[in-house]
Amino acid sequence: MINSSEMERPKLVLIVDDQELNRDALESILEEDEGYNFIFAENGKEAMDLIREHQNDLSIVLLDLIMPVMTGFEVLKALRADEQLKDIPVIVLTAEKQAELEALDLGAVDFITKPFDVPDVIVKRVDRMIKLREGQHLIRSAEKDPLTGLYSSNFFFEYANRLYTNSSEKHDAIVLNIEQFHTVNALNGRDFGDEVLRTIGDEIGIFLTETEGLASRIEADRFDIYCLPQPDYLALLERIQDRANTISPNVSIHLRMGVKPYREGVAPVLMFDRARAACSMVRGNYQKPLMIYDEDMRMQELLNQRLLNDLRTAAEKRQLMVFYQPKYDIQCEPPRLSSAEALVRWNHPEMGLVSPGSFVPLFEGNGLIGIVDSFVWQEAARQIREWRDKYHFTLPVSVNLSRSDVMDPTLIDRLVNLVESNNLEFRTLKLEVTESAYTENAQHMLDVIRKLRSLGFEIEMDDFGSGYSSLNMLSDMPIDVLKMDMKFIRNIEENETDRRLVSLILDIARYLKVSVVAEGVETKGQLEILRAGECDLVQGYYFSKPLPPGEFEKLIQKEIAIERN
Ligand code: C2E
Ligand code: MG
Ligand code: MG
Repeated sequence: MINSSEMERPKLVLIVDDQELNRDALESILEEDEGYNFIFAENGKEAMDLIREHQNDLSIVLLDLIMPVMTGFEVLKALRADEQLKDIPVIVLTAEKQAELEALDLGAVDFITKPFDVPDVIVKRVDRMIKLREGQHLIRSAEKDPLTGLYSSNFFFEYANRLYTNSSEKHDAIVLNIEQFHTVNALNGRDFGDEVLRTIGDEIGIFLTETEGLASRIEADRFDIYCLPQPDYLALLERIQDRANTISPNVSIHLRMGVKPYREGVAPVLMFDRARAACSMVRGNYQKPLMIYDEDMRMQELLNQRLLNDLRTAAEKRQLMVFYQPKYDIQCEPPRLSSAEALVRWNHPEMGLVSPGSFVPLFEGNGLIGIVDSFVWQEAARQIREWRDKYHFTLPVSVNLSRSDVMDPTLIDRLVNLVESNNLEFRTLKLEVTESAYTENAQHMLDVIRKLRSLGFEIEMDDFGSGYSSLNMLSDMPIDVLKMDMKFIRNIEENETDRRLVSLILDIARYLKVSVVAEGVETKGQLEILRAGECDLVQGYYFSKPLPPGEFEKLIQKEIAIERN
């Protein structure tokens, strides 16, 4: 891989000659050109040591032939025999015509005759050789992504760096990504996925004929564009989105975009890091799929860094807490407390109460969510037992599982262990798994969940309606409860379409013979609509916000009082 900083770095030249006078003379000739750094050797053996040490950043070797200890000929032979060193260009320094020929046969690329009386020729030869070598370097790896015709990532960054160092124009960095591309692939096949990538690449290519810039498909579904600042990035995104919409009337493709505007002194690699961060900020946000990196985002990044650093000690220092939000059975009158969801809270010493909305996705992305989750599971299991012992009342509690939890081979053992060590029944610790997790790593996911379910755990599919499960996928899925995504509830009072959607979901649930929890219920009006539609359970601010255990206990006490009546 071509190092991104290679362009700016001075070129390293090794001068090998046993005469100090010659070494100094060459150095002063080449010093005219400011882009060089020098190292020196007095004989072939020293030269070999330095070449090995600097093999990755050495641009050229200027090699005398007649030297004590190890001659230049022997150096040439040794280099040629070494896979790693054989491509390092060597120019020989010699006074004898006969030796020149022999050296070229041994793999030297050029020669400089002694004494060094035409400095300009020497400078040109060295410079040309180095340029040739760099060119070769570039061409060796494939330049274009065969699918889209855009640059492959190595070349892209190489050329972007050249633009950055050599052009007087300023360039912005754009990252474009496809939402849920793996799902698009899984549901429609690879050929369709390829078609999507090709089409988007094609539109980017057309765009680049209209402005100065270059583009790459960096990884599966991520496109990087380095181009002159555009007046309207939303228009650019919409233009590519419109083109993607032409692929198939049956599949919706959603694009999102992050932009890092030019700033002096910020090299392309860092620009694209920031554009990517901006792009991931709008993941899943179909209403606002464009994000431009700004000061707020820089602060956000610093904050994220802080949270990542602080997480490991947070659990020990008792900064992590578990709140409980009740779920009520609304088909009874009055509604009855049926279970609760455990929701993590972080009471950060400086930042105050941090909401999981801001750190759960962060930790999921960084593979650290397992730390949070196992803490919450342990705490929830302990709490179920504490309330059972205290009130002789068993309140089932659901905990959230992240995608990465399900991939963890120790998951099942850990959960079983928790249940058994607290002497609970399996059904009292419910597991919430978000819908999109099912569609992603489908087979493995289904195997693990089936196993858990066969042990007696109840499985709730969280955020139902936000993923892409089709009806026939659903009927195969091992679930006990659908948790309807909050977005369906928000406007049911005003919006006829949403009301119909909700009733459709309730129909699906009846067909699957699973119960439904409606999340995010805030008003009496919403509650009544759901009750009339025969929705079983409701979770939302209408009944209660998530509460610390001490306050939640009052709901349990109330419930016990109702039971006694
Ligand atoms: P979720 O699992 O879908 O949890 C429901 C979220 O909706 C909670 O937000 C809850 O406070 C909020 N909510 C409940 N009723 C209402 C309402 O009536 N109106 C409104 N506007 N919001 C309501 P919270 O606690 O901020 O959690 C957000 C998400 O963070 C959760 O969504 C879940 O995906 C994740 N999360 C929370 N705790 C954990 C955890 O321990 N582990 C993992 N992996 N994820 C967690
Ligand atoms: Mg949940
Ligand atoms: Mg939910």
